[in-house]
Amino acid sequence: MRVLVLGTAMVDETMAAAVFPHAGATVIAGPAERDLGGKGANQALVMRRAGLDVRLVAPVGGDTAGEWVAGELAGEGLDPADLVPVEVPTDRSLIFVGPGGENAIASIVAAAECIDERLARESVELLGPGDLLVMQGNLTLAATRAALAAARAAGALTLLNPSPARPDIASLVPLADCLVVNEGEARLLGGRDDALQAAEALRASGAGLVVVTLGARGALALDADGSVAVEAEPVRPVDTTGAGDVFTAIFAACRYGRAMPIEASLRAAGRAAALAVTRHGTRAAFPSRTEIAAIIGADR
Ligand code: ATP
Repeated sequence: MRVLVLGTAMVDETMAAAVFPHAGATVIAGPAERDLGGKGANQALVMRRAGLDVRLVAPVGGDTAGEWVAGELAGEGLDPADLVPVEVPTDRSLIFVGPGGENAIASIVAAAECIDERLARESVELLGPGDLLVMQGNLTLAATRAALAAARAAGALTLLNPSPARPDIASLVPLADCLVVNEGEARLLGGRDDALQAAEALRASGAGLVVVTLGARGALALDADGSVAVEAEPVRPVDTTGAGDVFTAIFAACRYGRAMPIEASLRAAGRAAALAVTRHGTRAAFPSRTEIAAIIGADR
């Protein structure tokens, strides 16, 4: 199975903050850390570490940030030749992490918005039956729709993690063989407060398998055969940034890369994500190849 991740690769600047800034306020933060980020890059590199054959198509500017992103991706075993050069600066996120591990993020997605429908369709041309397209919510709605539809037409499976969620992304739900959403996204797109009811509504709108992540309460999944829920690992969180990306990537690696049952895939994804929340940073917190191999092996 080949996996194509079509999404973002950017520079994350993370700062610890005792309180989050609000309008009119200045807060003292620090220390600051710089790392590779972007939901596309995060998910692609975790799937690569899980041993999948992954390509990442993501836009980068012709600046030093873009060169740095390319070098970091190469170091993760992802081919920088798949990156798409664009005429605007490489995207960036500013991430504030609070004392309880919670975060507030501001992202610039000007590069992401350069991926148009034609480029989106062209980039999925390498996919065929049995392959997997993985997308998130950072590209334009039109580009995301075009890529998902083209992948479907080529016989590939589609996984959509519509984050950050906007109400109009609901129209893409029928194009997802697998939809991975957090609780807020489930509520927004499913129109129900209860996670299971929201998942049922999303299934009724056409998603094949719906996975809802519930933070420290674990995750649930719903497909044509019914629902299954797993608890989260009991850990002390220090930084939850990227937990959803690690969860999505390991779930995909287990369910689609190794044909593991849904429940075992949820458990492995939850273990990997729990490990990430016990460490600071984004990529710096992600589980290593060795850790992922041990987690997946334990759940087979
Ligand atoms: P983020 O935006 O912070 O990356 P998210 O909102 O997309 O995360 P969450 O539901 O918060 O997604 O977390 C994804 C998964 O990570 C959860 O289903 C759970 O398995 C794991 N996780 C998150 N927070 C915790 C925690 N405090 N303790 C244990 N596991 C956690």
